[in-house]
Amino acid sequence: MDFEHSERARDYIAHVDRFVRERVLPNEKRYYAELSGSRDWRQWRVPPIMETLKAEAKAAGLWNLFLPESEYGAGLDNRDYAPLAEIMGRSFIAPEVFNCSAPDTGNAEVLVRYGSAEQKERWLIPLLDGRVRSGFAMTEPAVASSDATNMKATCEVDGDHIVLNGQKWWTSGAGDPRCAFLIFMGVTDSQAERHQRHSMVIVPIDAPGLKILRMLPVFGHLDEPHGHAEIVFDDVRVPLANVIAGPGRGFEIAQGRLGPGRIHHCMRAIGAAERALERLCQRAVGRVAFGKPLANLGGNRDVIANCRMAIDQARLLTLHAAWALDKHGTFGALTDISAIKVVAPNVLQTVVDAAIQIHGGEGVADPELSRLMGMARALRLADGPDEVHRGMVAKLELRKYT
Ligand SMILES: Cc1cc2nc3c(=O)[nH]c(=O)nc-3n(C[C@H](O)[C@H](O)[C@H](O)COP(=O)(O)OP(=O)(O)OC[C@H]3O[C@@H](n4cnc5c(N)ncnc54)[C@H](O)[C@@H]3O)c2cc1C
Repeated sequence: MDFEHSERARDYIAHVDRFVRERVLPNEKRYYAELSGSRDWRQWRVPPIMETLKAEAKAAGLWNLFLPESEYGAGLDNRDYAPLAEIMGRSFIAPEVFNCSAPDTGNAEVLVRYGSAEQKERWLIPLLDGRVRSGFAMTEPAVASSDATNMKATCEVDGDHIVLNGQKWWTSGAGDPRCAFLIFMGVTDSQAERHQRHSMVIVPIDAPGLKILRMLPVFGHLDEPHGHAEIVFDDVRVPLANVIAGPGRGFEIAQGRLGPGRIHHCMRAIGAAERALERLCQRAVGRVAFGKPLANLGGNRDVIANCRMAIDQARLLTLHAAWALDKHGTFGALTDISAIKVVAPNVLQTVVDAAIQIHGGEGVADPELSRLMGMARALRLADGPDEVHRGMVAKLELRKYT
């Protein structure tokens, strides 16, 4: 394997790094100040500074960097995108500035690879332009959704329409005032072969029968202005042309969507862990107790060394997964993708926990550290819980012996 980044990627790394340091990080405070702060998601607004930063990034050519398809994006492979996603991961707002945030990235990939010409024109182009945002509605409150075959929501073909019924939750991004559509996953034919029962359907957010019940909190935070919605679909009728790649192909598309998406999360998690370690070290050298900097007390140097080693190991595993994905595709990189999906969020959680500890009482009050902890904890569930991914790694390992 070769971890060397291409010349183009090195150029992007320098530019994205500078943009994040000079434009994004200094504007984080302003971004949070411009949010409505309301618990009622209907009052949410998009901070104007976000649109300003997006326009600047787009003008600088730092836009849609996640898409390997060069006619739509930067044309970088996963290995070359990895360091860019890591840099973006240092700030909660950076991925959106470069039009590289979930779930839009995964939805865009689905539409690029499986969408019809009409779907691309109507939904993909505005998404890639940064004019609208989107959501992905798969998880359901009523069933254990880590097993996708449990899904109960239906999308049944009725002439030249498809009719959606059911309840979804954790549809991230559905509370965003710019959210224009969701990709809904449901059962079209419960009698078909297990992996041909589901379909993916594009649903306009204002479709009659689609009702957003609430935004779910992550440790009390509603993640304004994006949110994580619980939604009822009550006889929502959309044209059959909104089905992606045709009925029965939902499972196949989901497998393809989740490979790169999971790696992107991990790359950002490593950037987030770097930021947490930076905060840890700044505090450790800058504050004194018992006559010494905190860094020189007890086992704190070991804590710092362990964090550094854990991050560097996670980065190498992520790069290996990205390389395997580029070389062998999602199905040739299953162990690597599942392994890093367990490792990166756990490393982030460990580093953030250490950063909170060194900050003493202030650690649990610090908005950035608590957001990072929420991110780490939620990432151990989102896109499949740790146990499901460990199960995949073990299954593929044991296959060698049976
Ligand atoms: C912040 C956040 C954002 C999210 N965004 C989205 C989104 O945009 N779209 C979307 O569709 N979903 C989203 N999700 C949902 C997420 O993907 C699901 O929560 C996850 O897949 C688990 O499904 P579940 O909640 O039904 O848990 P369940 O399936 O009920 O699992 C609960 C627990 O059971 C245990 N378990 C399950 N399977 C196994 C196993 N094989 N071996 C051992 N133990 C097991 C694990 O401890 C697991 O955590 C999001 C979740 C969060 C927290």
